[in-house]
Amino acid sequence: MIVTSVDVLSRRLKPLCSRDNHVMKYESAGSRANSGDEASYHCGSVGCSARYNPTNGYFMLIGMPDHANAVDEPGVNTLTCPRHGRWLYRREGTEAEAGVRWLCGVEGCDHRYSANTKAEWVRT
Ligand SMILES: [Zn+2]
Ligand SMILES: [Zn+2]
Repeated sequence: MIVTSVDVLSRRLKPLCSRDNHVMKYESAGSRANSGDEASYHCGSVGCSARYNPTNGYFMLIGMPDHANAVDEPGVNTLTCPRHGRWLYRREGTEAEAGVRWLCGVEGCDHRYSANTKAEWVRT
């Protein structure tokens, strides 16, 4: 498994929040709302602080700006890209392709994994 530092988080993804299924929005590193040091996607729901990027998977930022730590969302991150070794994000299937898709967040990567919604995704 090769992990390089040049993997870039794509800006064109529509990852779903691991908690409430909201589509998460891209935030570059250093933007006002993103206190971490890496670009990530952020759920905009009130009271929800879930984030995603390929390095951390689904996570929350805990702490103050400039001193924030990424804390894994428990039980959410289960799949990695075989090409990049990075965490996959969850995306809703279209009507034509029912179920849940897990995709790699690294720009230009087309790795995807199909999961049966009811069997694989248990809300906690
Ligand atoms: Zn959320
Ligand atoms: Zn990948």
